[in-house]
Amino acid sequence: MIVDYHVHTFMCGHAAGTLDELVEAAIARGLDEVGIADHMPLYYFEDPDLAMAPDELPLYVERVLDLQERYRDRITVRLGIEADYEPATQEMRVEILGRYQWDYVIGSVHILGDWVFDDPRRLERYQGLDVDQFYLDYLGAVGDMAETGLYNTVGHADLAKKFDVRAKIDLEPHYRELLGKVKDADMCYEVNTAGLRWPVKEMYPAPDFVRIACEMGVPVTLGSDAHSPADVARDFDAAIALISEAGYQSIAAFEGGAMRLVPLPEYQPPDH
Ligand code: ZN
Ligand code: FE
Ligand code: FE
Ligand code: ZN
Repeated sequence: MIVDYHVHTFMCGHAAGTLDELVEAAIARGLDEVGIADHMPLYYFEDPDLAMAPDELPLYVERVLDLQERYRDRITVRLGIEADYEPATQEMRVEILGRYQWDYVIGSVHILGDWVFDDPRRLERYQGLDVDQFYLDYLGAVGDMAETGLYNTVGHADLAKKFDVRAKIDLEPHYRELLGKVKDADMCYEVNTAGLRWPVKEMYPAPDFVRIACEMGVPVTLGSDAHSPADVARDFDAAIALISEAGYQSIAAFEGGAMRLVPLPEYQPPDH
């Protein structure tokens, strides 16, 4: 079975195409399930170029459920959301996430302190940065996120590398510590192919992370982090190869917040 659980919509202000085009692309690429997981309202500030506004969330849910209904005979559409983790505004998130029956919630750390470090408009903060400390802070925040129990899957688990700023320290013990928390929370993480489209030119997370996660028995799922129909399931042949080489024989699938394991597919993209 093949799923893409990380697909954005135009509602976030930085993605292209219609909802129907996203689902048609998923069908054309032979997916069994496509999960729409747009950026949840941020709450730490409002930025129409980063996420929908809080009052648009009901419309988002309505639109995804409508897609699910209309495409029911051709593909399974899942209702997901990519929710941030940001300690100062968590209460808001807990409340809002509780309002709907999500198939799954992706947890992502995009902000540390007041810095949205993955925003290409905020690169000046990388000047003179203590990169090792930045990685430790980032991985620490992802671990704290897992401990909240609010999320089902970790989004782009090593997003700190997006702009190819690399830690010098050995990250393996920190990966292990984080993965222990992910496992205790009964979560999975995604292999996210979007890293291939950013300066780092590598999927999230790094092959070492995937190998250790498999060894520790932490499930994995698949996400393209598509922000356009063309990117739905992009590079999934490489993602499946990475997962398989790490030793996995299954991937995680979600329905109504419950995870189950399905056999890892072989995947030959139709357009290759
Ligand atoms: Zn985005
Ligand atoms: Fe993200
Ligand atoms: Fe995303
Ligand atoms: Zn993302």
